[in-house]
Amino acid sequence: MTNIADNLKAIHQDIINACNNANRSSATVSLLAVSKTKPISLIQQAYDAGQRHFGENYVQETVDKVQQLAHLTDITWHFIGPIQSNKTRLIAENVAWVHSIDRLKTAKRLNEQRDSNIIPLNVCLQVNISGEESKSGATIDEIAELAEFINNCANLTLRGLMAIPAKGNDETTRQSFRKMQTLFNQLQHQYPSVDTLSMGMSNDMNIAIDCGSSMIRVGTAIFGARD
Ligand SMILES: *Cc1c(COP(=O)(O)O)cnc(C)c1O
Repeated sequence: MTNIADNLKAIHQDIINACNNANRSSATVSLLAVSKTKPISLIQQAYDAGQRHFGENYVQETVDKVQQLAHLTDITWHFIGPIQSNKTRLIAENVAWVHSIDRLKTAKRLNEQRDSNIIPLNVCLQVNISGEESKSGATIDEIAELAEFINNCANLTLRGLMAIPAKGNDETTRQSFRKMQTLFNQLQHQYPSVDTLSMGMSNDMNIAIDCGSSMIRVGTAIFGARD
């Protein structure tokens, strides 16, 4: 049996250790619990253990979970999966954060479809940091234009950058995260709203924290392996 509360406790201790090693305050790293494919009952267990930020990858699954847990009014939902244009409305209407914007078209649609009477959608730009052909994410060269566009969108708030490095060894992973850190520092210099560097998952969170991550996205280490 997966004990969610124990897993969360262990991860919070890992965050503290990684921050100590990196000379950072552990208050500068937040934990996003990635609950994709996992049932409501496990999300509820994580919530009961104090977790409030949850990340999902699939639009219909996200909407279902948001609706079923609507009574937990202090949950913050993050969409972290690939975005198809025909699904942007459901995303704009159901979550507080999107980490995976990599095209102007998506940004434009989310801005148009976000209700202007509620708090703007918090967005991170996804960077294809390892330059993989088949992967989601904007190239480093595309980031400047995307950031400027989003900065001018009334219903979006530019919060930062997200990346998933290519599978590799610790050294190649670290190189990718270091590149992200440099890019993030530049962006933060230009836009005061930028405060989030979303990187690090179950297997590379320590390296990510060492490279300045402010939000780690952890699934397996909290909820167990996915089928
Ligand atoms: C699934 C997923 C995660 C979590 O990965 P784990 O290895 O299970 O911790 C994080 N980020 C994104 C974008 C994901 O799709």
